[in-house]
Amino acid sequence: MKKLFGTFGVRRIANEVLTPEFASKLAAAYGTLVKGWVAVGGDPRTSTPLIKHAVISGLLSSGCQVVDLGILPTPAVQYAVRNYYDGGVIITASHNPPQYNGIKFVDEDGIGIAEDMELEIEAMYFNENPDRVAWDEIGDVTTNPGLVDEYIDEVIQRVDHDAIKKANLKVIADCGSGAACSTTPYILRKLGCEVTTLNCQPDGHFPGRNPEPTEDNLQELIKTVKATGADLGIAHDGDADRTICIDEEGSFVMGDKTFALVEKQLLQENQGGLIVTTVATSTAIYDIAEEYGGTVKATRVGDLLVARELKESDGLFGGEENGGLIFPDFVLGRDAALSTAKIVETMALTKKPLSKLVAELPTYQSVKMKVECPDERKQEIMDKIAVDTREYEIDTTDGVKIFREEGWLIIRPSGTEPIFRCFAEAKNIDDATKMAEWGISLVNKHLGN
Ligand code: MG
Repeated sequence: MKKLFGTFGVRRIANEVLTPEFASKLAAAYGTLVKGWVAVGGDPRTSTPLIKHAVISGLLSSGCQVVDLGILPTPAVQYAVRNYYDGGVIITASHNPPQYNGIKFVDEDGIGIAEDMELEIEAMYFNENPDRVAWDEIGDVTTNPGLVDEYIDEVIQRVDHDAIKKANLKVIADCGSGAACSTTPYILRKLGCEVTTLNCQPDGHFPGRNPEPTEDNLQELIKTVKATGADLGIAHDGDADRTICIDEEGSFVMGDKTFALVEKQLLQENQGGLIVTTVATSTAIYDIAEEYGGTVKATRVGDLLVARELKESDGLFGGEENGGLIFPDFVLGRDAALSTAKIVETMALTKKPLSKLVAELPTYQSVKMKVECPDERKQEIMDKIAVDTREYEIDTTDGVKIFREEGWLIIRPSGTEPIFRCFAEAKNIDDATKMAEWGISLVNKHLGN
């Protein structure tokens, strides 16, 4: 059982649990396993320099060479590692509030490390036995100042920049004072968009808005899009691996819509291809694949699993319903910069406003519910639900996904909290709600509630 790592690496309140001593020892354990060139980068949180320097010390102490990439998006670090280094450490708490920070380790492909490596790092951490090399084997710290420009150029090369330039799009970029400040506004300008920035000075206090790009947190962006008559509003989370769009009418576009839109664009460009997503993704993704010659493979829930599957099966594109999109020929993880460029490219090529593009997508309604359940009873309840639902077509990739005439329902135990999640999708909201409630009632029945 993992004690330190969650779904997204180690994430805690900075300098309380996540102290320099903790960070340094954990990084030394990772460094012991890598023993090579390790890139380190992070988001602009107030605690990032503190944690980063401790991580660098730990890596050097275990015999690694360190490349300090400074403040930049999580996917830019992943890009750098995949192309140049043996490993990487990202200091970020993604969308969490300002007091948090985190440490994310990636493998030589830039994908978040696998669970067995996390367990090895934990064992070394608790046994106090990371390698501590001799004085004359201690590595050095170098930098790679050209990396951000290279990352930006790579994004631009992957889209039809002439078409985007001609479209003369007006875009408001809200980077939420996070890591995208050094990428998204520059990418959009290089693509010939007319850019207005909002919260585009990096600031670990996140004075403009909370780093999570929810509709509530993006009210200022929505107002600005409406007031300026912009074609598009773009928002990112703190470490810039997710992109959220606001259409020209000021409507918040759900992440699954952006996913479907980019899927359609990529399948048309490539005349088909393999799409990888999770079992919790909308049927719209399957509908589009069918229409444009693609195939879909579904993994368990989690962006790392999608990234790994894309690599293993040489997929074209992947993503999750929350707006994290993965372009495997670029970065084997969610990337916000190329997502942004692909969206403006789609608008430019189709010459259609975003609201229209979204309206043309297949529509489904979804409902998410949860119910408390002690961890030790999860397996027993899962088994009983499998018996209850055996008359239906089911998929047990993650929890149980039950297909019925009106839609589907997933009942799955959370990996991090003592709860079951019930997630239903149907053509209309009443059916989706009824199915999610049915899922809750099945869990409750076996809990004895
Ligand atoms: Mg993030």
